[in-house]
Amino acid sequence: MGIIEKVPAYMEKIPGGSILITSVEDIMNWSRASSQWYLLFGLACCAIEMMATGASRYDFDRLGMIFRASPRQADLMMVCGTVTHKMGKRVKMLYDQMADPKYVLAMGGCASNGGPFYYDCYSVLKGVDKVIPVDVYIPGCPPRPESLMQGTMKIREVIKQQKLKDFTGDRPMA
Ligand code: SF4
Repeated sequence: MGIIEKVPAYMEKIPGGSILITSVEDIMNWSRASSQWYLLFGLACCAIEMMATGASRYDFDRLGMIFRASPRQADLMMVCGTVTHKMGKRVKMLYDQMADPKYVLAMGGCASNGGPFYYDCYSVLKGVDKVIPVDVYIPGCPPRPESLMQGTMKIREVIKQQKLKDFTGDRPMA
């Protein structure tokens, strides 16, 4: 193996450049953080920004962000849009079908707390965290692609701080 130019700070490089010493925990976190496969679905206008992030100009793929059409192959759920009470049950069902460890990103005001529908709207959930745990919230109506990309960087920080014992079992609700 040749010399790796940019190794994570928590890896120690032995002189000679051929051996890396790390822990199983760190290498698992690093690999998980570097390939977040996200469940592709959108609920409202924020999803347009999510699609723009995945398109050629912002090119989400270069960050290891690959969309999957099945919850069983995804480890990140990006909730992009307005979550109604009716849809909340479906979102929860999709979340339950994802394998652990899994992460949730609430994109925009609607997914975070109901957004413009917070007042005077009987049908909108006041935040998707009422039905599933959320790791990162992104403010905005809608947030720009740059904000979504920064949100996924925050998810990486969450992943890199995880312990092996966190990888099993259900996580508590937020
Ligand atoms: S936060 Fe704004 S842009 Fe996003 S889904 Fe709600 S109304 Fe649409």
